[in-house]
Amino acid sequence: MNPLSEQFEELKSSGKLPSPSGVGLRILVLTRSEECSLDEVVKTIQADPALSGRILKLANSALSGGVKPATTVREAGVRLGLRTVCSVALGFSLISGNRTGRCAAFDYEAYWSWSLANAVAAERLSRELRLGSSGEAFTLGLLARIGRLALASVHASDYARVLTRVAADRSLGLAQLEHEAFCINHREVAASIAEDWGLPPVFSEVVQYHGVRIPETLDWPASKDYLRLLEASARVADVLVGNAEAGERWPGVREALVELGVSSEDVQRCYDGIGDSWKEWGQILRVPADFMLRASEIEARSCSILAPAKAIQEPTVALQVLVVDDEPTSLRLLQALLERKGHQVTTACNGQDALAMALENPPQMVITDWMMPGMDGIELCRRLRSTEAGRDLYILICTGQNEEERIVEALEAGADDHVAKPVNPKLLMARIRPGIRVIQLQERLLGEANEKRLINARLAIEKRKFRVASLTDALTELPNRRYAMKRLENEWATSERAKLPLSVILLDIDHFKRVNDTYGHDVGDQVLVSTARAVNRVLRTSDTCTRMGGEEFLVICPGTPLDGALQLADRIRIAVEGNRVQAPAFTQGKVTISLGVSCSSSVGIDSIDALVKAADEGVYQAKRLGRNCVALAPNGSTERKSA
Ligand code: GH3
Ligand code: MG
Ligand code: MG
Repeated sequence: MNPLSEQFEELKSSGKLPSPSGVGLRILVLTRSEECSLDEVVKTIQADPALSGRILKLANSALSGGVKPATTVREAGVRLGLRTVCSVALGFSLISGNRTGRCAAFDYEAYWSWSLANAVAAERLSRELRLGSSGEAFTLGLLARIGRLALASVHASDYARVLTRVAADRSLGLAQLEHEAFCINHREVAASIAEDWGLPPVFSEVVQYHGVRIPETLDWPASKDYLRLLEASARVADVLVGNAEAGERWPGVREALVELGVSSEDVQRCYDGIGDSWKEWGQILRVPADFMLRASEIEARSCSILAPAKAIQEPTVALQVLVVDDEPTSLRLLQALLERKGHQVTTACNGQDALAMALENPPQMVITDWMMPGMDGIELCRRLRSTEAGRDLYILICTGQNEEERIVEALEAGADDHVAKPVNPKLLMARIRPGIRVIQLQERLLGEANEKRLINARLAIEKRKFRVASLTDALTELPNRRYAMKRLENEWATSERAKLPLSVILLDIDHFKRVNDTYGHDVGDQVLVSTARAVNRVLRTSDTCTRMGGEEFLVICPGTPLDGALQLADRIRIAVEGNRVQAPAFTQGKVTISLGVSCSSSVGIDSIDALVKAADEGVYQAKRLGRNCVALAPNGSTERKSA
């Protein structure tokens, strides 16, 4: 046993680790397993009257007049869809058992409020940006900080001490202090909990690295997307719960969302959407979720909205000059000379002061005496050149008679030019002129670099917008074929490594050409959209329906063996058959589908191509068998590969 798991076992043996109720855990397992059907979930939920009540209330909350309210959990489940029901069940069962606790410094209510905001944000961003599966994103968001809750539950008083120390001194790292106190930090605890609950390994990896620098190499292909997702969702959650600091934090949210792929114009809409559903979820799960400030209000409070890193400066001829000399007369003389030419002058009478002033408020040019007590002109040059702010300054050094010989030394220390003392005004101006040219040139280059940066930033945003669009089917808003193939690549790799089966279900609408021919193409489109929704409603959180083209859809089912996929396929078939397409012109009212199923663990399925091809042959077989049914490829093997 490695030391970490030993630490975790110790926590576990306390019997105080947070866990979903039996019902919640069962649902968590069900949503990942092949036997997950609405009936199964309904049966599990009915064992918990409080949860049943929530689900009913939710199903009836958005009813318009005339619709009969749902009176059974099953009706409610059909109305809400399997995904929503599972998320509510998990959230409710986890929160209801861990609403309060004994750790004085741990704000349980705030914890859940934040976690729910994080879950809702992760779910929505995943859905909108086609990153991972939205059901998994919700669960990950909800569990992202569960390690903190766990430590608060098990080590109530010791953890209170840790939290108090961190609150008093923000420079102390929470994870570090946790490690000192418990030999395990909250991220490691979270990863162990995810593993302990039987969640897929990608969950452990994500919660383990959540909130720290994302490592270059990760074990699971999906982890990176989820980590990026949670980075952004955490920022959104911070602003949702922390109204007081919303203005200051807003630029961070904007940046994170744009970085993730939300287009700049969509940031406000996206944030508000998350806020609205956070509020709804808060009511359902009885977690405080006061969505008080909409994005436009926060943005108004926030002063710096993604300004370019450095403002583009207009080339100037009037310079800001810092003059440094320990001798008051020559300092005043230089100042007067320069001011007469329209330059803005600040003065310092020694090297230390000059350095501090230059770093605090960088001038464009420094004219410094060489010989000064304390830090001399040469040392000032060196020190300035070693800093970011001083690197590009134009420095002119004044040399006394006997220092002329040492000009090379001054240039090597970083001076741009020198002028002999006592200063001849004409000569000084002649020396300043090339300085002005250099400064103007530098500023122009900086301006161009800034412009380039801006163009690049815009291009990157366009590229990300394009990426999302390129992965989405415009008609049904489902992920498209390109996404399906990418996702299959990830899931295939995961299934090989985790030795888990991966199934796909290909489905094709029966006699769709007739629909088009009889009712017109527009009605055909409506049928496609309605059918896509009907399929989506019966899917588990981990399954994803994509549109492969035409009237053909592919459902990707990670972790699902062949018999489970066959059951799911029949459930989809029944759902579509029972779906009434709400289009007045479509008098036939419904369509049926033919489905083909294949699984990576069957003999002969050794690549993604083989997997999809077998499902395709299944569809043809179903058509041959009379349509509205589920079939396997006729020549395919149902035998399982030996491990
Ligand atoms: P089968 O039961 O054998 O699948 O017959 P089918 O008529 O469904 O199959 P077929 O492949 O002959 O016809 C598919 C039709 O789908 C033909 C094409 O015009 C139509 N189609 C493809 N994409 C779209 C779309 O985006 N919108 C509409 N309205 N029709 C589409
Ligand atoms: Mg068809
Ligand atoms: Mg077809």
